[in-house]
Amino acid sequence: MTRPHCEKCEELLQLYVDGELDEGDAHTAEAHLDRCGYCRSRYRLERRFRAVLRQFAAEPISDELRQRLSSLRSMPR
Ligand SMILES: [Zn+2]
Repeated sequence: MTRPHCEKCEELLQLYVDGELDEGDAHTAEAHLDRCGYCRSRYRLERRFRAVLRQFAAEPISDELRQRLSSLRSMPR
């Protein structure tokens, strides 16, 4: 289900998750999250997504993993 009116705050939300908003805009984002369930769940999703990304970034991809990934891509049919 899409809520078109919230596409406008999508950008604000992304910046908010990244912590790139100044105080005023962050306040606007927080106030919106407070009353918009749609954006609230989007926010939680983004937070989780970034946490996972950070986890992956913290672990260097090993040669073994790289090989496994590339063998996945070239799986025999
Ligand atoms: Zn919203």
